[in-house]
This record gives sequence, C-alpha cells and structure tokens, in this order.
Amino acid sequence: MTKECDCLNWCGDDPWLKDGRATPCKKFLDEQERDRVLVAQTQEILDLCKARGIESTYDLVKALLKRVADLEHEFDRAFLEWCADRMVYVYGADPHVDYVLKLRRMAGTRS
Ligand SMILES: [Zn+2]
Repeated sequence: MTKECDCLNWCGDDPWLKDGRATPCKKFLDEQERDRVLVAQTQEILDLCKARGIESTYDLVKALLKRVADLEHEFDRAFLEWCADRMVYVYGADPHVDYVLKLRRMAGTRS
C-alpha cells in the first residue's frame, strides 16, 4: 500500500509519485483531469478555426461578427415574413395588399 502524496508545496510535487511509492491525491487527479479537458477543448477550437481559415484573434472576431450579422439578417427576414403571414392568415388581409407585399419585399423573400 502506497501513501498518498504529501503535497508539500503544490499537488503533484512529491518525488515519490514518479517511482510509485506515493499515489496522487484527489486534488492532483482533479487538476490533471481539468488540464486534460482544457487541452482537448483548446485543440477542438483550434481545429475549428483551422478548418475556417482563422489564423488570428482578429480573424476570429471578424468571423464571429460576420456570423452574428448573418443571424440577425436571417432573424429579420423570418420576422418580416412572419408579420406578412400573420396579416394574411390571422387578420384576413389580401395577400396582394400593399403592406403585405411591402413586408415581403423588406424580407427579400417574395416580390
Ligand atoms: Zn495534493
């Protein structure tokens, strides 16, 4: 039976850990697992960036801002379409009446 590491200065500093005379304490094991997860997550992010040609923080911010703008645009289009549909189906408006057509033109979906 080995003794648990002494964690004299920091967890994992016990030289007996190297030759198996001591076993790592729970805190040291938890820290190692946290580091392993962090490395895996960092690698996942780096792989995603590489696949999209993102090589710097500037590129990343630019790509994220573009994505946000695209999502806002998609939301605006869907909202305007929803408004046009609502006018027609809920309020019984003529689908060819000016304000319904204008909503669809603003949405950019139908003329
Ligand atoms: Zn420890």
